[in-house]
Amino acid sequence: QNSEQGQLIKLYDQAAKLYTHVLLNTEMGQQALDYLHGRGLTDEIITKFQLGFAPGEQLLKEFFDEKKLDYQLLRQSGLFIEDQQGNLRDRFRGRVMYAIKNPQGHVIAFSGRILNKADSQAKYINSPETKIFSKGDVLYNFDIARSAIRKEKRAILFEGFMDVIAAYQSGVVNGIASMGTSFTNDQIYLLQRTTTQLDICYDGDDPGQAAINRALEAFGQNSRLKLSVIEIPDKLDPDEYVRQHGFEQFKEIVQSARLTPTAFKLVYLKRDFNLNNEADQVTYIERALNEISHLGSTVEQDLYLNQLSKDFGVQTQDLAQQLRQIRSQQS
Ligand code: ATP
Ligand code: MN
Ligand code: MN
Ligand code: MN
Repeated sequence: QNSEQGQLIKLYDQAAKLYTHVLLNTEMGQQALDYLHGRGLTDEIITKFQLGFAPGEQLLKEFFDEKKLDYQLLRQSGLFIEDQQGNLRDRFRGRVMYAIKNPQGHVIAFSGRILNKADSQAKYINSPETKIFSKGDVLYNFDIARSAIRKEKRAILFEGFMDVIAAYQSGVVNGIASMGTSFTNDQIYLLQRTTTQLDICYDGDDPGQAAINRALEAFGQNSRLKLSVIEIPDKLDPDEYVRQHGFEQFKEIVQSARLTPTAFKLVYLKRDFNLNNEADQVTYIERALNEISHLGSTVEQDLYLNQLSKDFGVQTQDLAQQLRQIRSQQS
């Protein structure tokens, strides 16, 4: 393919192969390889996901210069940073490289992670937008996961690349991740064409929980996907959970610890309140009823009313009465 897109895809393919080669087969890559082995990755997994290492030197620039590639192509590739004189320097230096692929499995971008957390630089840097890459449309690992998603009629959405990879190692092979916080229509359509069920399995920490809430909103309003939430305990992220508790226990969580969006929200709402305090209890119950009032099914409503009743020692009838009031105000 000779189009600009085709040329860029070829360039990214060569860059990805170089980064993987450096990681697996060179002295320059040894520290990064040790780091990834230390995080539980095997060479096989590294190859499968085309992980790589960008060393501190201008390795990519020199590699492409030798091939006498077109300056304008390199300039537009996003792989380099241009200085005032128009000289190109490697954008990614001293970073573990995650290859970002399109649904056809072609590398279209990279995300690079610093090796050393003590570093004051950003933990991740991403390729800039190009003719072949728009960050908002990426579903990481969709090329590999697509057939499993079709077969299981279910996709699992993670926050980080390493979470997708750890899940894959555990045998959970229908995992994907986005590269940012908000979801584009293209991502939603792509998923909707492939499956009917989406499980959101973000980090157990506070930012992760807030992100679940946002993702539920985005998919709840813009898709027909049936949603659920998989909660990772102890504020861990899925990768940390896998490394601490093993593949089997992670698989168990994925299969059994599923919450409905409402169940998640009723728990999530609690963090804003001190529930030892009666005034807070009353406000929480109001907010919870408001959440429940959006449910279409009365059976579901009953389920959560009973739960609230048990939690707070309030009569179900009284809760139902207040729910009717809320509903009549809404219509
Ligand atoms: P690791 O386990 O290697 O530390 P992580 O995936 O757990 O990585 P988090 O800090 O939980 O990293 O962030 C989740 C995701 O958010 C990352 O995978 C990345 O896509 C994105 N992200 C995090 N920090 C940044 C950043 N500084 N710039 C851009 N994206 C980021
Ligand atoms: Mn996080
Ligand atoms: Mn994380
Ligand atoms: Mn992590």
